[in-house]
Amino acid sequence: MVHERIDHRLGHGTDHGLDLESGAPVAISLGRLSDKVWPGPLSANGVGPRLAEVIGRLDDYYVTVDPRAKTRCIDGRHDPELDEAALGPQVPGGAPGSALAYRLGVDKDDLTRGTFTGDAEMMIESYLRLGLSPGGHRDEDAESGDGVGCGAIDGLQSVLDCMTNPMLVEDHKRLVKTILDADFNRDHYLRVMGAGLVLQSRSVGYFHGRGEIIDLLERKAPGSVSMLKGRHQEAFVVVNMVDGTTLSSNRFAADHGGAQAFGYDLWRSRQLVQALFPLPSHQVDRERFIHARVMLTIATLMAITDGSLQVLVRLTDA
Ligand SMILES: [Zn+2]
Repeated sequence: MVHERIDHRLGHGTDHGLDLESGAPVAISLGRLSDKVWPGPLSANGVGPRLAEVIGRLDDYYVTVDPRAKTRCIDGRHDPELDEAALGPQVPGGAPGSALAYRLGVDKDDLTRGTFTGDAEMMIESYLRLGLSPGGHRDEDAESGDGVGCGAIDGLQSVLDCMTNPMLVEDHKRLVKTILDADFNRDHYLRVMGAGLVLQSRSVGYFHGRGEIIDLLERKAPGSVSMLKGRHQEAFVVVNMVDGTTLSSNRFAADHGGAQAFGYDLWRSRQLVQALFPLPSHQVDRERFIHARVMLTIATLMAITDGSLQVLVRLTDA
């Protein structure tokens, strides 16, 4: 049942946009990320416009992706070079951000070996080989600070800490289950969680030098690194399941008094696994990677927000 459903979704050509789906996209509210207080500093309290208005007009801010455009991060801040006619899909941390999901969900190596930088380099090379335009970003403060300015890369250690935090695990599982819906698989969830715990025991070594990956991305794919500006002011998280579409993040913030959205194009992760693991025998790897990617996305939101943001799911009303 679960397998059939994943196959069905993966079978959709992602270059074709909406025409393969029946019905119009709808936005569904899941309420706040949490009723509890998460460890992250970012809060939506006081910055969010009225939820009903955002839901009613969400579709106006979704556009068709340009397959040649660089992959973007879910970061909602302003990108001065963004071209709405050529937007790439949004995933946490951009292309290098997939590397930890690969390590936890799929990699068959010993978890006591390897580094994030090595895994991320392999991921960027895979993107290039498969014709998926990689991308990542810095921010304008990164020059003076320690990190690169991408919370999904700089904060990786706290992301892993959040995912394996016993105080947060119930919230974590609830959200992962809701988002994966019928595709949720308890064994995959527990396996990725266990892999996270094992990796956590040597996370300092594994994540050492992770900031270099953005330089490496720039060298391997010139022009693929964006520079984001301004403050974080995300008040919404939108998980987008509609193939081939993405959030026009600059315009969304401009029209909502500066309130931004984290846009996660979950369809892109499904497209990526189909390209990375194309054979019928790779079914389990595809499912595990998707679990790891969604699990790390929720953990990233735990590490960077206080749980007060509103979550929306955008899907096709079949
Ligand atoms: Zn980022």
